[in-house]
Amino acid sequence: MSAPRSRSDSRSKTPPPIDLIQPRRRSLSVSSTDEETIARRKREQSIKFDFLDALEDVTEENMKAIRDLFNRHLHCTLAKDVTVATDRDYYVALSYTVRDHVMAGWYKTQKEYYRKDPKRVYYLSMEFYMGRSLTNTMINLGLRSLCKKSLYEMGLNMEDLEEIEMDAGLGNGGLGRLAACFLDSMATLSLPAYGYGLRYEYGIFEQKIKDGFQQEVPDDWLKFGNPWEVPRPEYIIKIKFGGDVKWLDDGKFSWEDANVVLAVPYDTPIPGYRNNTVNTLRLWCARSPNSFDLSYFNHGNYIKAVLDRNAAENITRVLYPNDNFFEGKELRLKQEYFLVSATLQDIIRRYKHVRTSVRTKGPLERTSFEDFPRKAAIQLNDTHPALAIPELMRLLIDHEKLGWDEAWDICTRTFSYTNHTILPEALERWSVALLERLLPRHLMIIYEINRRHLDHVITLFPGDLDRRTRMSLIEHGSEKVVNMAHLCLVGSHAINGVAEIHSNILKRETFRDWHELWPEKFQNKTNGITPRRWLLQCNPPLSNLIIEHIGEEWVTDLDQLTRLEPLTEDETFVQNFIAAKKKNKVRVAAMLRRDYGVEVNPSSMFDIHVKRIHEYKRQLLNVLHIVTLYNRIKDNPRGDFTARTVIIGGKAAPGYYNAKMIIKLITSVADVVNTDPDVCGRLKVIFLENYRVSLAEKIIPACDLSQQISLAGTEASGTGNMKFMINGALTIGTLDGANVEMHERVGDDNIYIFGMRVNEVEELKAAGTYNPLDYYNANPELRRAIDMIHGGYFSPDSKGRFHDLLDTLMKHGDRFCLLKDYEDYMRVQDQLGRDFQDSVSWAKKCIINVANGGFFSSDRTIAQYTKDIWRAFPVLVDPVVGEANGAVPTTATADAEKK
Ligand SMILES: *Cc1c(COP(=O)(O)O)cnc(C)c1O
Repeated sequence: MSAPRSRSDSRSKTPPPIDLIQPRRRSLSVSSTDEETIARRKREQSIKFDFLDALEDVTEENMKAIRDLFNRHLHCTLAKDVTVATDRDYYVALSYTVRDHVMAGWYKTQKEYYRKDPKRVYYLSMEFYMGRSLTNTMINLGLRSLCKKSLYEMGLNMEDLEEIEMDAGLGNGGLGRLAACFLDSMATLSLPAYGYGLRYEYGIFEQKIKDGFQQEVPDDWLKFGNPWEVPRPEYIIKIKFGGDVKWLDDGKFSWEDANVVLAVPYDTPIPGYRNNTVNTLRLWCARSPNSFDLSYFNHGNYIKAVLDRNAAENITRVLYPNDNFFEGKELRLKQEYFLVSATLQDIIRRYKHVRTSVRTKGPLERTSFEDFPRKAAIQLNDTHPALAIPELMRLLIDHEKLGWDEAWDICTRTFSYTNHTILPEALERWSVALLERLLPRHLMIIYEINRRHLDHVITLFPGDLDRRTRMSLIEHGSEKVVNMAHLCLVGSHAINGVAEIHSNILKRETFRDWHELWPEKFQNKTNGITPRRWLLQCNPPLSNLIIEHIGEEWVTDLDQLTRLEPLTEDETFVQNFIAAKKKNKVRVAAMLRRDYGVEVNPSSMFDIHVKRIHEYKRQLLNVLHIVTLYNRIKDNPRGDFTARTVIIGGKAAPGYYNAKMIIKLITSVADVVNTDPDVCGRLKVIFLENYRVSLAEKIIPACDLSQQISLAGTEASGTGNMKFMINGALTIGTLDGANVEMHERVGDDNIYIFGMRVNEVEELKAAGTYNPLDYYNANPELRRAIDMIHGGYFSPDSKGRFHDLLDTLMKHGDRFCLLKDYEDYMRVQDQLGRDFQDSVSWAKKCIINVANGGFFSSDRTIAQYTKDIWRAFPVLVDPVVGEANGAVPTTATADAEKK
């Protein structure tokens, strides 16, 4: 490996920089009484035993190349030298150094796609919850040990620098993180794939806890720049809003007098795991054109015209912080349309720009759209990008002059749709009036799609007018709205749920009529997570142990983990497994001490419930358990209790009152429990501030018990559950989402299942007889916990603070059946509390979980999408070796090429 060639290399030497960081003396032959030398030797030891060493090409020559690049970036890119550089400068210099190593593979991969012209996969998502890039990029490129040692030689600690990177928090929770895991898997499987999304200037807000309440702080993640993105202003695209539709003489339509906003693409490289593939995540940023509002220019108000550019640029200003909730705001609709219009214009440009003959040097236009569905598969991540369907129709009909039938055939063969939730409050229903004002041409197209669709329905089910109404894209309630899920169902060839149980509910309940019409369209694709970030990267102690025993193949073939199962009989292995978990817990304990000033006992059970705060996820049920444990300790201060550290974390949508009160309740209970001397360290409650991807990577490997306790039938899949499983935690959970499939794989003895099954919930709801008060009255421990919260035990300063919250349980029907499931939850919590006392038998269960986690790799999920939905194929990329990589040739090399 050598530093990528650049223009300056072929010219005169770069001037020798002055105060560059020089490598420390390598020789360790200094007197061994020298304290510094000993400390350094120790650190070198700990580096040496990292498995990455064995996998990477750590040579003196390669280390020198990294150091040289690093110093050049510090000096020439950042204009700093060692006397003034901060740790952030070192982080940026390292990122540029690593980025340089991505570039050659990036051009090469994209050139290969252009040359081979394969079917491309386009993943459209309003969210890509990427987290940090540096560590993952180094690991996927095989550079991490090399960089670590090179920096070490310069007296820098790479792990400290990695902590400086801001998360790319362009997502809310599971849906956005899934998109990020999919990008990693698509690149690792060598698929010609692209992520398309929005470059929000402000990602998911930063959560601060003030007096126990959540406060939102804007996430200004770009304030120090973003070394991972490359702006591509040369590919700017025009997006229209508003205006009117004119009927032309030839019977076609024209969208006129619209406002124009520009979409500027920013590209981020997505490297596969050590396979030379580097794909692209393209995020659009809104920019105002110079003639943003013509009326101001026309009236000569130049200053106002320039100032009002803000209005257009607000489109990509901020991520909407709702998880599983639809808020029909105009700006959000603009965001959704902005994404799909820019993306489809880009996809069509790429489709047209193709060399149809190998002998033709220059690009040729592809003019027929016949091949479009054979060259592009477009996956809609929930209904958020559903306007892609009418937008492609508009582009094909109004711009490319295709007929309706041909355009519709192309659409339905190109699009597929993933449903992520059945919660009614999350289903997108856009106001017809709003659509008419913002996207008049699209509304016309939606009406025409609906007319033809309902004609089809009524021929198949003559006289069934109810069915016709139920299946309409347009719904008439207090206001006329478009049901975006129905638009996706009619416009896609495949629709999938994200876990078996969820896909079955879609067929049986949510989209029952649609399943009767098109059973062949319905599929399941159980979600997954990338084992690179969620095991190899985040859990070195466990990764090291696994690699020691079964090698490294599992990194790209997670089913290999089954080879760990026989090791439950190997006593040393089990002890080493326990030690790895302990190491992670000690690290988290140190973090909690440093960042929150709280002491936790690393031998206690780490009982962790981290995810967005939502009533359906039932953090309140967890609180009832905590309060009950507290009461038992108070009643029996000398009793024998399993020591627990309960950690709850997650953000509440800023407008979600109940979710914010749940946070306040958790912090209030924590204040009482953690300061009560009777508790004596047997129960600690911690609310983990600002839960996000980089914090998940730290906390999950330290978990003993993973809480996945949503009401059966409400969590479509969950992916947090899978992260905990492969990191060796046991799950307490309901038979909901992917928990069902986890249970199938590990069996009754290795997971703690409780609560109603989905059929029981359905029966209870159908009967309409559920009375939460019956359960309150029947269970004294439950009644006592609720009464304490109600009576102000945890809120002495405001005794009625939690009344509204409790009313949702006691007076408003307890929609998520907490009171009904409480007793069984307590029973199973008690059982697992006892089981935890036998650390060896507990560890064996954990190992069985890790060993059976292979199915939950997103590589498996992506392989299934590729085969069953996208029908795409990998394009292998050869290693980059001594190629010019598109560098500008010198006169000499250009002359040589001519001959
Ligand atoms: C995985 C993940 C989620 C999703 O968690 P669930 O438990 O499936 O809701 C949410 N937030 C972050 C930061 C994650 O990494």
